[in-house]
Amino acid sequence: MTLTGVTAEINLDAISHNLALVKKLAPQSKVIAVIKANGYGHGALAVASALTHADSLGVARFSEAVALRDAGVEQTILLLEGFFKANELPYIAKHNIETVIHCEEQLNALSQVKLPKAITVWLKIDTGMTRLGISPEACSRYMTALSSNPNVKEIRLMSHFACADEKQATMNTLQQNGLQSLINTYSLQASLANSAAILSRPTSHLDWVRPGLILYGMSPIEGCRISQNGFQVAMTLKSHLIAVKPIKQGTTIGYGATWQAKQDTTIGVVAIGYGDGYPRHAKSGTPVWVNGRIVPLVGRVSMDMITVDLGNNAQDQNGDMVELWGQHVAIEKVAAYADTIPYELTCTLTTRVSRAYI
Ligand code: PLP
Repeated sequence: MTLTGVTAEINLDAISHNLALVKKLAPQSKVIAVIKANGYGHGALAVASALTHADSLGVARFSEAVALRDAGVEQTILLLEGFFKANELPYIAKHNIETVIHCEEQLNALSQVKLPKAITVWLKIDTGMTRLGISPEACSRYMTALSSNPNVKEIRLMSHFACADEKQATMNTLQQNGLQSLINTYSLQASLANSAAILSRPTSHLDWVRPGLILYGMSPIEGCRISQNGFQVAMTLKSHLIAVKPIKQGTTIGYGATWQAKQDTTIGVVAIGYGDGYPRHAKSGTPVWVNGRIVPLVGRVSMDMITVDLGNNAQDQNGDMVELWGQHVAIEKVAAYADTIPYELTCTLTTRVSRAYI
C-alpha cells in the first residue's frame, strides 16, 4: 500500500556535487564532511554514501560513529566532541576513528589505557568560542603529554569559529590568528573552517576544512540562498492539501484565531505541522509553494496541519502537492520567518516524515 504523508525528498547527487564544489573552493585542503545529527536530518547513512570522496566524516558522538561502522561505512571518522568514556577508546582505535581531545579528563583517560593501535587525535583549542577546547596557554602541556603517549600516532590542531557567518567580525581574525600562532609553534596539520568560512575566508582553509551545511545545499549566511555559489539544494519537503475551503471576509483561522481574512478568499489546509518538525513559530506570511505559485501561511501552525491563503476563486484541490521548502521555497526564508536557522529545520524533522532518496 502506498502511504501518503510528509516526504523529505533527498537528492544524493546534489550532496556529491556540493562536496566537489567544496573541493574546488578549498583545493589545498582535505575535507571532513560533517554528517552529525543524522546528516543534518538527511539520513547519515545515505548521506555518507554520497560522500565517499570526502577524506573523513565528522560526527559529534561516539554512538553516531558506531552506527556508521555497524552499517559498513569504512571511511575515517572524526569524533568532533571527542570520546566520553575511556572504555570507548579500544573501539575507536580498532575502527579507524579519530578523536578530538578538549579536556583534562580525556587527556588522562588516553594515558591510562593500552590501545591495540595508536590513534590520531585532534587537540581542540578554544580560540574564542568558549565552548569546547583548551586555552592556547595550556597547549604546550597537552602537547608534551600527547607526544609522549604511545597511544597517539599523530596530533592535529582544531578550533571552531564563533562568528563565521559574519564576514566582518573581528572575532574571526582573532580566532584565526590564535590558531595560526600555535600552528607556527608546533608545525602540525590543522582545521578551522566550517561552511561559512569555506565560502568567505579562504585564508582559514588550512589543511582540513569541515563543511556541514553547504554540503546539503543550505546557506550559512542569513537570508541568502546558496544556489548563487553553484551549490544545489539536497532536501525538498513535500506534503499535500487535505482541505480546500472558501471563506468570507472577517473569518478567523486556527488556534487563537490569530489571523483574520481581509477579503473573501480560499483557505488550503496542508498535512504538515510541528509534529512533523515544521516550525511551530513560523509566522503568517511564511512562503509555501502550491501548484506553481508561492502562497502565504496564515494562522498558527498546529501539530498536524498548517493553513495557507490560496486566494479568491482558487482552483487547487485536495491531494495537490505542496512544497514547504527545497526546490521552490528557500529554506533560509522559512527559517527567517520562524526566527531560526536552516540547520534546526532539517535536524528536527520527526520520524513521521519519510525520506525518499532520488
Ligand atoms: N565543525 C564543528 C566542530 C561543528 O560543530 C560543525 C557544525 O556545527 C561544523 C564543523 C560544520 O559547520 P557548518 O554546518 O556550519 O559547516
